[in-house]
Amino acid sequence: MAKTKYIFVTGGVASSLGKGIISSSIGKLLQARGYHITIQKFDPYINIDPGTLNPYEHGECYVTIDGQETDLDLGHYERFTGIQTTKANNITTGRIYQSVIEKERRGDYLGKTIQVVPHITDEIKRNMLILGKKGNYDFIITEIGGTVGDIEGLPFLEAIRQLKWELGKDAVCVHLTYVPYLAAAGELKTKPTQHSVKELQSLGIQPDVLVLRAEHELSQNLRNKVAAFCNVDCDCVVQSLDLPSIYEVPIKMHEQELDTVILRKLNVEVAPAPDLAPWKNFLSKRYNATKELHIALVGKYDLQDAYKSILEALSQAGTYNDRKVKTHFVNSEKLTDDNVEELLKDMSGVVICPGFGQRGIEGKIIAARYCRENNKPTFGICLGMQMMVIEFARNVLGYEDANSREMDEKTPHNVIDIMEEQKNITHMGGTMRLGGYECIVDKDSRTYEAYNSTKIIERHRHRYEFNNDFKQEFIDNGMACVGINPESDLVEIVEVPSNTWYIGTQFHPEYSSTVLNPHPLFLSFIQASIGVEED
Ligand code: GLN
Repeated sequence: MAKTKYIFVTGGVASSLGKGIISSSIGKLLQARGYHITIQKFDPYINIDPGTLNPYEHGECYVTIDGQETDLDLGHYERFTGIQTTKANNITTGRIYQSVIEKERRGDYLGKTIQVVPHITDEIKRNMLILGKKGNYDFIITEIGGTVGDIEGLPFLEAIRQLKWELGKDAVCVHLTYVPYLAAAGELKTKPTQHSVKELQSLGIQPDVLVLRAEHELSQNLRNKVAAFCNVDCDCVVQSLDLPSIYEVPIKMHEQELDTVILRKLNVEVAPAPDLAPWKNFLSKRYNATKELHIALVGKYDLQDAYKSILEALSQAGTYNDRKVKTHFVNSEKLTDDNVEELLKDMSGVVICPGFGQRGIEGKIIAARYCRENNKPTFGICLGMQMMVIEFARNVLGYEDANSREMDEKTPHNVIDIMEEQKNITHMGGTMRLGGYECIVDKDSRTYEAYNSTKIIERHRHRYEFNNDFKQEFIDNGMACVGINPESDLVEIVEVPSNTWYIGTQFHPEYSSTVLNPHPLFLSFIQASIGVEED
């Protein structure tokens, strides 16, 4: 297509309606028509990135291949489209202000008073257009975090108002709202939607398409009413009901022609039909996979979103192995020598989760020991891998005080240690080992069987590392170091080869598992867990 076109996705009435899923679904449908697309998210909060946020605040922190800590919606974008995102795909108010203030100090605006309008809004607009200017994309989908009416969202909406005006037919706004059902009246209520659209209109934005989240089917009458009150075409009011799988959303959106009306609004007269066959194939596999596989997640965050990518990677790998993965959260703070057997014995596989800080680590170490000694398929991810290493050092190498420098500064058996370049870090934000690093996989390993490749690139997010001073001792005693970073010689993957499947990765494979390309290590872990179930 000659010109890049822009689709803005805003939300109203309530948060958590699934703007990320709708944005991903629009992206998927356009991609399935053969277009080049990318999805970006603008978050109105003031943090530079979500890297320093507690998962309880904001769910999982997702990491892009180029090492940006981002909002978890970027994980949805990648899982749906298989297209990698980058630093430019997630911008926060903090980053906008940081860049404006840097320019001000540099003297770029000499003589001028710096104001929200036009300086902040211009910077937002510039960032919204950066990926489009590369000329690689037919469509850029831009999701705006938060809900219309939030004070901090105003500059972003003003930027959209201006861009819609400047780009004319090359920009549309899709607004997602909620239609509650009042049980006492037995009725669906559109008033909150009308108010939310009025709010947008009062900011000078006329939405082109409305996606209404609802728990009950919306009649044509009701849709016509919304269309009439909100100045949108009748076929531009689309419903989004709760579905058994988020991966069904693109199909349901296509059935209601969401992609078709967006293309019409963007003046794309002829568009190829979407090829949704691979996607539908995945869905039918998913629905046919009814046999359950029980996997424990040993972690400290009792909250779904904290381990979002791991949950998705497990469930995708389950689908491809004809299983419905049922995950059981095991709170590592409550895990003890006395209850570990009871909590884990019926599980077919165990994931020891990533994390930071002291809280809950002893439980992870107990889980690692139980799984190693009982030959349970076990997948340790990042901190989970570090806990596998510490457990092995304590119970096999005999170093009772083995620990990570993160938890115990003084231990002489710091089998997980801090790197030289990390020692003098003064700022917490964005300073970990982040993003994609190459790793060479030993051919004689279970990991190699999974990847079928000796050269892999995986994403990292951690400050501490396997301490190579102890490496030979680990190897001599039965823990193999099967993945090594060729530049730094750091250990990225450990295995216990005498077990069926006991693997720890310093990196986060879950970030790169997608619907149509499930991650080989998760596939292999699920296969090993099925093996247990069938024994
Ligand atoms: N806290 C550990 C580190 O910083 C592990 C981090 C993680 O699990 N992502 O090295």
